[in-house]
Amino acid sequence: MTRKSLVQGKRRALKYDNPGYEAFTYEQWLDVLVACDFRCTYCNSQPHRLQMDHVFPLAKGGPHCLSNVTPACARCNQSKHDSTLEEWEARKVRRALKKRRSYLFAD
Ligand SMILES: [Zn+2]
Repeated sequence: MTRKSLVQGKRRALKYDNPGYEAFTYEQWLDVLVACDFRCTYCNSQPHRLQMDHVFPLAKGGPHCLSNVTPACARCNQSKHDSTLEEWEARKVRRALKKRRSYLFAD
């Protein structure tokens, strides 16, 4: 068993174990994609492939249900990873400030 399959197995288990789990169909997920105009919720891009992001992460007890999933591009989904929206925003702000500081105070 690879590390990746272990992580996927854990995620699969989390999907069903977290409170609030509600099964939904692929057609319902397609309805979400159509409603979002096949765009990433976070950056508004229209990539070739969209991923299903759990807004409130599974790893932090978020439910696997239609109201907690949203389309995301691979870049945003990987950047957000297991963060809440607040944690992700704070990390992006910290990164931007660090970049600005290094630009302003470069030798
Ligand atoms: Zn995106």
